[in-house]
Amino acid sequence: MNVALKPLLTPCSSSVVEKPPAPREQLLGYAKALINRKSITPDDGGCHSWLIAQLEQLGFECTEINRCGVKNFIATYGTQGKAVAFAGHTDVVPPGDLSRWKSDPFIATINHSTITGRGAADMKTGIAAMLSATKRLLGSQSIKHRLIWLITSDEEGEAEYGTKLLKDYLDVNGVLLDYCIVGEPTATKRTGDTIKVGRRGSLSCEISIKGKQGHVAYPQYAQNALHIANKVIQSLVSLEWDMGCHDFPGTSLQITHIDSGEFTDNIIPGQSCVNFNIRYSASYSQESLQSIISKTVSQIDKSAQVTFSRPCLPYLTHPRDDICLIDLAKQAVCNVTGIFPTLSTSGGTSDGRFIADSKTQVIELGVPNSTIHQVNESINIDDLISLEAIYFDLLLRLSKQA
Ligand SMILES: [Zn+2]
Repeated sequence: MNVALKPLLTPCSSSVVEKPPAPREQLLGYAKALINRKSITPDDGGCHSWLIAQLEQLGFECTEINRCGVKNFIATYGTQGKAVAFAGHTDVVPPGDLSRWKSDPFIATINHSTITGRGAADMKTGIAAMLSATKRLLGSQSIKHRLIWLITSDEEGEAEYGTKLLKDYLDVNGVLLDYCIVGEPTATKRTGDTIKVGRRGSLSCEISIKGKQGHVAYPQYAQNALHIANKVIQSLVSLEWDMGCHDFPGTSLQITHIDSGEFTDNIIPGQSCVNFNIRYSASYSQESLQSIISKTVSQIDKSAQVTFSRPCLPYLTHPRDDICLIDLAKQAVCNVTGIFPTLSTSGGTSDGRFIADSKTQVIELGVPNSTIHQVNESINIDDLISLEAIYFDLLLRLSKQA
């Protein structure tokens, strides 16, 4: 499915925000409060109780949904009008080799231009910006729409009991999200240069192949499982997938592991295992992919066992003729930064996939991602300040549409 995205409809000079920017110290204080809480997946490190206290002070009602060690909460403000959601995660990946960090990864370190610490980019500063923008919105006017926050402590892990559960809760309670802004770090050089409007799906697969073990000098009595695996791999990597389009990268199958058990140079292996992963566009469903893979493998080796795992659906937010979140976000970015954002669907999977559907417009908009998951993860403070201003501008624009 190739979808051409519409060009920016409103000139860059369109202006909604004329309020003073958020107090820098308050915004940095929020970022510090989150980074200083050690929250390696799925531990929230106390981030949620802190965030809930902040949101309740603003008049939100918060519901915690915790399962299997994963902490999640939904916060809602108002009961009428269109629902505008922020979504994000408080968990971070482990810091890795501590000796390579210039400072404690769980103490936010601020110098004149940067903030450093685990989660500084992915994505505790994004949540800090959401909080500050929400506070400014509620302090500046009475709003006619609903605000909803979806926060999980399991995005970096399996994500089985994270945002998916929150979406299920919304569905069971008949709550429809009209717009959702995910605060993942999406920028390449500076905040606002890139907005994600979709992500490819992902599917992993393991193929177990049985041959017959034997002596390398007597191949006539054996069946080499690695030779069969080689044919299977050749067949898989020769499959032709969609090439994608300007807005969506094509589908790609990559072999990730080949194993034939313990190695001895005079034994023909009697079994082998091949692992691979497919990143796929919205042209395919999981079912269609599974069918293609199973058929391809079976044509080479009928007895091979095919097991699929870690399925992640793709999503793509389409531009719309009525109220278009993508256009409003472009205008907010342009108003705050003076640059036109690129629309992208690149990168790995994100929790946007659990939220997006035909009724809910989802975008991802956040700070630069060049240091995510690295030692000395950091961002420029100016990028955090820009993000907060963009969120505030976007909330104002959405409130005018509600
Ligand atoms: Zn993230």
